[in-house]
Amino acid sequence: MDRLSDKVKRLPESATLKMARLARELRAQGKDVISLSLGEPDFDTPQHIKEAAIQALRDGYTKYTPVPGLPELVEAIRLKFKRDNGLTFDKDQIVVSNGAKQSIFNISQALLNEGDEAIILTPYWVSYHDIIQMIGGKPVPVRAGIEQDFKVTPQQLEAAITQRTKFVLFSSPCNPTGSVYTQEELEGLAEVIARHQLIVVSDEIYEYINFTGQHASIGTIDAVRDLTVTVNGFAKGFAMTGWRLGYIGAPRWLARACAKIQSQVTSGATAFGQKAGAVALTSDPGPTIAMREAFRRRRDLVIELLSAIPGVKTNHPKGAFYIFPDMQAFFGKSFDGQTIRHSDDLAEYLLREALVATVSGAAFGDPNCIRISYAASEDQLREAIRRMGEALGKLS
Ligand code: PMP
Ligand code: GLU
Repeated sequence: MDRLSDKVKRLPESATLKMARLARELRAQGKDVISLSLGEPDFDTPQHIKEAAIQALRDGYTKYTPVPGLPELVEAIRLKFKRDNGLTFDKDQIVVSNGAKQSIFNISQALLNEGDEAIILTPYWVSYHDIIQMIGGKPVPVRAGIEQDFKVTPQQLEAAITQRTKFVLFSSPCNPTGSVYTQEELEGLAEVIARHQLIVVSDEIYEYINFTGQHASIGTIDAVRDLTVTVNGFAKGFAMTGWRLGYIGAPRWLARACAKIQSQVTSGATAFGQKAGAVALTSDPGPTIAMREAFRRRRDLVIELLSAIPGVKTNHPKGAFYIFPDMQAFFGKSFDGQTIRHSDDLAEYLLREALVATVSGAAFGDPNCIRISYAASEDQLREAIRRMGEALGKLS
């Protein structure tokens, strides 16, 4: 008897987490795999944030909190939105969740009926696509290639809108490309979004890993102020991936809907984690800045090393900790009887031949590229790219 639902049978395992799993499995077999697959800072959570959680446990923060979040954290988020982004929210417009991933799930669940369309600026983070599909919506990728720094134009966006479009979803700084939309570029997109009265979901989880010094939030643009959901979280900027803590600032009706969904699914984030989150947002940003600067140095190193490999084409990522090189030059080439047809084949080849785990660009909507996470030490990055160069050199 087949007990599993059709829905779960259609659902792929997260491609990022799958590559991380494969790398772990190979390592357990004694293979010297370097994993550049997972988007996870290799730094530990700053000590003062950990101490805050320990203290919170001692102080009895061990119970359920209000579903949308502990009042203290909600207030810290409200002030953070104002301070860092120029966004004004009331308390009841903020919902804390178990990670930005759940925030995106809540929003999609709240907005999409069966068959409704959600436009995702492409390349996109893999889970956008799969969450929308899981919910019964239709992901509509609008693709920008490396020649336009992977950034979608207002004209491209306009052309993808139909009667069934409910929202537009993107990240800036972008996972997987590292591209950052400028204020002017966001204004161009906002004009189209406002004219069609769509919701825009702006995932700003890499806000603090931005090398341009200027993070722009689309929600500050008048025309889309009441149409924007801003998603953020603690995982990247504070190296808190395992804490599972994210949040949104949204129109009131949508925040209420997200909280209602959450009330049936997780009941909210952990109480002591939320206490520590409030400390993260209100304390010295020094550790976050130090991590950003380390990522900037690695970005420069990775661009330099990859550019020296014939056939690898890179953009100049301006944020996050990913680079998304175009690898088309290797397609159609072979080694040892295996022909590389697309990014899936290439990621598999690099894992087997170079023992370097990356993620196929196909998972992010662009099968010409692979994603390299440079959240690893400089020594690991040097060795990984040396091995990649050697393996790529064997293809003919
Ligand atoms: N958005 C983007 C663009 C991401 O890369 C990730 C991966 N962490 C998330 C959301 C989910 O973050 P969280 O760990 O807070 O669920
Ligand atoms: N967002 C990270 C990534 O893209 C972490 C893994 C995940 O949440 O899918 O690799």
